This record gives sequence, C-alpha cells and structure tokens, in this order.
Amino acid sequence: MLYRLRDAGYQAFLVGGCVRDLLLGVPPKDFDVVTNALPEEIKKLFRNCRLVGRRFRLAHVYFGREIVEVATFRASSAPLQSEEPLPDADPEDGEAPEIDEPLATELEEDSGNGEERVLDEHGRILRDNVYGTIDEDVWRRDFTANALYYNIADFSVWDYVGGVEDIAARRLRLIGDPETRYREDPVRMLRAARFEAKLGFTVDEATAEPIPRLKGLLAAVPAARLFDETLKLFLTGHGARSLEVLRRRGLLETLLPTVAAYLDAHPGSLVEKLVMQGLRNTDSRVLEGKPVTPTFLFAVLLYGPIAQAIESAPPERWHEQATILDACDRAIREAQVHIAIPRRFTLGVREMIALQPRLEHPRGRRALRLLEHPRFRAAYDLLLLRAEQGLAPAEMAQWWTRIQEVSAEERVRMADELAGQKSRPEAPRKRRRRRRRRPSNPT
Ligand code: ATP
Ligand code: MG
Repeated sequence: MLYRLRDAGYQAFLVGGCVRDLLLGVPPKDFDVVTNALPEEIKKLFRNCRLVGRRFRLAHVYFGREIVEVATFRASSAPLQSEEPLPDADPEDGEAPEIDEPLATELEEDSGNGEERVLDEHGRILRDNVYGTIDEDVWRRDFTANALYYNIADFSVWDYVGGVEDIAARRLRLIGDPETRYREDPVRMLRAARFEAKLGFTVDEATAEPIPRLKGLLAAVPAARLFDETLKLFLTGHGARSLEVLRRRGLLETLLPTVAAYLDAHPGSLVEKLVMQGLRNTDSRVLEGKPVTPTFLFAVLLYGPIAQAIESAPPERWHEQATILDACDRAIREAQVHIAIPRRFTLGVREMIALQPRLEHPRGRRALRLLEHPRFRAAYDLLLLRAEQGLAPAEMAQWWTRIQEVSAEERVRMADELAGQKSRPEAPRKRRRRRRRRPSNPT
C-alpha cells in the first residue's frame, strides 16, 4: 500500500511504534503510515478505505481483517491516532460522542480549506486538522522513539529528534518541553508509563519530572479515552508491569484512585497478590495469543474496592447476593468517575463476583446449571485465582476443575456426592469454621 501512494506521486512512510519495534527487533503490533496525500486523496487511491475521526481525520485502509492507519502529515503537537476511541468501541455505551457526529457538522465548522486547530483554556488541543510536512509532523509526536520515519522509497530511516540513539540507549524521552507536551495532552503521562512498562526503557529525568505535578490534568481527559488507554496498559501483554509503573509514578491514583488507595492501605496483602497474579495470567494469555477480556481485568483490578465495600456491611450479610451486588455497583461507580467502562463489561464484573459464593457452595444438581452460565468460565478463573491466594477454598476450585473434565453422568454423581457430604453430621461444623474465618477474606 505504501507503494501505491508512492506510485501516485506521494511521499509515504512507516512511522511510530512499528519503526521503533522493528529497530528493537520485536514484531510490530500494527503499522501506521504517514503521507503527504490528503485524506480525500487517500480515499481516491484505496477502494477499501474509510475516513474516521473528528478531532483529527485519518484514513483506515482495510486489508482483510487488518486495518492500516494512514494519516496525513500534520503541523502541530496535537494528540495523534491513539486519541481516537478504538474502532471496536461500543457506540451504545461508550461515552465517546465525539466520533458519532456527522461529518457534515465537522466540515461546516472547518475554516476554509478544511484546516483548523482548537485549544481549550488549559492549552489542551481539542481539535486539530492542520496539515503539514514531515519535518513539521515529527514535532507533534510524543517520544523520540516513536518519531522515526521509514522511507519505503529508499529504505532509509529519517530521524529528526535523536530517536535512533534513544532506542539504542533504551531511553524514553519526550520531544520538546515536557511540561508543555503533557499540558497539550495529559494522556502522554499514561503513555510514558505504558512504554516504560512495555519496552522496559528508562524514562529520561526531564520526561519523568513533571508527572507528579501534572497528573491531576488527567481529570480533564474524556473518560472514554481513559478507558481505551487503560486497556492498552493492561491488556497488551505487560499489565503486571504497567500496574507497578503506574503505582510508582503516582498515576494509579488519578486513573483508579480506589484501587490505588486499597493497595496502599494493604501492602503485601492477599488481594495485592491476587491482582498481580491476575495480571500476570492475563499477560501470559496475551503472549499465547489467547483472548482476554476487560470484564476479567476489571473484576481483578476492582477486587480490593469490592471486598472493602462488602466488608462495610455487617458480617452476617457478606454472603448475600444483594450485599455483593451493591458492593460491585459502588466500586464500579467510583471507577466510572474516571474511566468509562462500557456497560457490558461492568455487568460482567457483577456476574463474575456474584457467582463466587455460588461456586464456593454449589447446591446439589442445581450447581450443574452454573456450568452453562455465560460468565462461568470467567468466574471459574477468578475462583482459581482466589483459591491460589487462600481467598477461597482450594477443594472447591479443584471440584470445579474436575467437574468440567468428566462426563455428564459423572457430573451428576459428583453433585450428588457433594450434596450428600454436606448433610453429614461433621459438615456443618466445617462450614461454620470456614465462615468464621471469612471476615478477613470476603467475596
Ligand atoms: P504501540 O506499539 O503500543 O501501538 P505506538 O507507538 O504505535 O505503540 P500508538 O498509540 O499506536 O502507539 O500511536 C502511533 C504513533 O502516533 C506513536 O508512535 C506516536 O508517534 C504518535 N502518537 C500517538 N499518540 C500520541 C499522543 N498522544 N501524542 C503525540 N503523539 C502520539
Ligand atoms: Mg501503534
């Protein structure tokens, strides 16, 4: 596709993360292209092309299931591609009305030649369609390592900012004055944390320094964008390291304040271990190419705040569904202040958590129906994780592992056997003992 642009007389470069990853010898996640062709011109060249974005218009060119993002050089330091909600964001429940507006409104608002830039009173760029040349485009990129251009015409790398050297030194450095760049787009603070976690680079001192002072600016960022950024932090294979970096840089406090507060108040707790292990498990799944879901992620991240909300009820009510669901709702509501978690995921979190006591105390043959529950698999994974930390009875986790492996008849036998055990005289004592232990480890 780069060649089609070139053959039509345009400049075309690979840019950003893919060039960085190629230099690092790791496979790029996706390919971003920049060109001096205008969006409308790109659209004429590619049949399978759609123009997207309001704050910044760019072209998505489809190759089967792959999307290549083709952007036109821009001339200011506005946020780029990643500011746009993910293509698969659910328009029903994401709070991302920005992309839903008809293009016509946009064009009306545009001044004359379709170029425009709008800032808010804090210097944050709200909209930006000022097209430019490559040597203007480069200054709007965030980190030097992300600002390299690979020219397909002669296979050369164009480096205006010392990015090649920084990559070799594994150094993460913002282009330009860090404070100005964070003010323009506070999400760059989260991106710094993400690349620190993902690449294992050392953050340059001047790049790290303003973060504690400016992290409050993240409050002004649309919650839908923070949701997207949260998924990039936690669901792309380095979630455990992302959490460590976010905590160390004080950014978890602004992104998920209740989670940060819980972890700070309970250092070394079983919940902290559960969160870290949950993130590590998710990371392994990503690396194995298995699917991962925001539902499981948020159930793990919010585990502490949910447990805390449950514990604020009287102990005899801790195992009631109403208590558990109220606790989930409270924890989710507090998280939603900052991150717009689409409803299908928050519903999933509630179901996963509410299934925990039912998995811990399966009741006869009715328990078998839980295997059919759409959230069973996620709830079972959470049960395993809890059992691993001693937050749920290990024998029940094993029981559910086994029951999934056996035949239908054997399942019925296992359910009956369990029901039978429970009616044995010593069983109530065992249950009571477990219940008394539970105050320290609810849900
Ligand atoms: P990844 O490998 O995680 O996708 P990436 O570097 O490709 O990393 P993207 O979010 O896909 O990151 O963005 C592509 C490029 O756009 C970046 O490399 C960077 O040059 C530029 N960019 C993205 N977001 C911003 C931003 N908020 N501010 C400035 N430049 C940005
Ligand atoms: Mg990318």
